[in-house]
Amino acid sequence: MRTRPHESWERDTGARPPKQGRPPVPAATPDAVSLLALQRTAGNAAVARILDQERHAHGPGCGHATTESAAPPVQRAPTFTRTGAPAESDRDAALRMLDRVARTAERVILAGNPKARNKFTPHLAVNLLPDGSLGISGNTGKRVVTEQQRQTIEQEIRGFADGSAPRAGHNAWGSSADQRQRERQDRSKLRALDAGSYAEHHPESPELADIYEALHKPIRWFSIGTPVKKGVPAQHGEMTLLGEQVAAWKRAPRDPDDPKTVHMGGVKLACVACQWAFDAVNETIGRDLGYRVVAAGAHGQFFPNWLMPQWMRGEQAVVDVIRSRAAAIDAELTNDWVVNGELATGDFVHDPPDSGSEYESD
Ligand SMILES: [Zn+2]
Ligand SMILES: [Zn+2]
Repeated sequence: MRTRPHESWERDTGARPPKQGRPPVPAATPDAVSLLALQRTAGNAAVARILDQERHAHGPGCGHATTESAAPPVQRAPTFTRTGAPAESDRDAALRMLDRVARTAERVILAGNPKARNKFTPHLAVNLLPDGSLGISGNTGKRVVTEQQRQTIEQEIRGFADGSAPRAGHNAWGSSADQRQRERQDRSKLRALDAGSYAEHHPESPELADIYEALHKPIRWFSIGTPVKKGVPAQHGEMTLLGEQVAAWKRAPRDPDDPKTVHMGGVKLACVACQWAFDAVNETIGRDLGYRVVAAGAHGQFFPNWLMPQWMRGEQAVVDVIRSRAAAIDAELTNDWVVNGELATGDFVHDPPDSGSEYESD
C-alpha cells in the first residue's frame, strides 16, 4: 500500500476505487446533490467512477451491453447544464479522446521521471482550440511542464498521427495491471482514431474528426517553464486554455439558443476552484455568446494557492462568482488574485485499484 502526499491528491482521486468494505455505489442516476452525499459516504473515487461511467452514452453500433439503458439519460457534467440543453453524451467520445491525449502526455512525463510518480503527478489539460489546433497546458508553479518534457510528448503524439506509435506503452515495471490496461486502451483508441475506425464507431461525435486533424498539426503549448518551489500559487492548465476559448468566443459570438460545446479534457477531474470558474464563465460569458465549456466533472476537493489567470481578473462577473463561492467554504480570493483557504481533507487517498472494471472499454 502506498500513501501519497497531499499534492498528488488532485490527480489521484479520479482513478481510485472505493476501499473495500465501503458502501456500494447507489444505482440511481447521479445528480450534483447525490454525488456530494456519495462523496461524503463513499469517498471521492466512487464519485469519480460514476462521473467516468457517465462519460460514454452507448449508441447503436457501439457494441456495449447497456445495463444502465433503462435509466434516464444522464448528463455527465450536471453542474454545467442548467438550461435544459441536450445531453452531453453524444459528444462524450470526443472529450474522452482529449482525456486520452492528456493521459498519454502524463505517462511520458512520468516515464522520464519515475520519482514523480510517488512525489506528485503532473497536471495537464487538453482542449481543441478555436483555430483547430490541439492546445495542451500544464499548471504553472511546481508542477510545470518543462521544455524537455514538451519535446518528448510531441514526439510521442506524433507517433499517433503518423501511424508509428507502438502498441506497447510506458506502464510496465512496477505499474499495476489496472494502469497497464488503461494505457493499452488509451493507445489502442488513439491508434484507432488515426486509422479512422474510431470515428466510424462514433458517428455521433463529429468533433473526433477535428481532433484527428489537430493531431496532425503542430500542438500549441502553454505554461512551459521551469518548476518553481512549492507553495507558489499555480495557474491551473484548464484556466489557461479557457482563456484562449473566451477570447475567441468574444471575437465570434454565436446564437445563444444554439450554444457550441467546448470540451476541456485532462488527466483528472477538475478541482473545486476550476469548477467554480467553469460555472461562472458559462453563466456570465458563455450563455450570452453562445458557448459553454464542459469538463470531465469535478472531484470536489478544494486546493489552496489557486491563481486566477490574468484574463479572468478583468471579468468582473466571473470574479464575483468565484469570490462568493470561495467565501461560502471559508476560503477567500485575496488581493493577489489567489484563492486561498484550508486544504480540504477527507477520504481522498486510496489504494491503487486492482481491477480494470471501472474503466470504459470504449
Ligand atoms: Zn459504447
Ligand atoms: Zn484546478
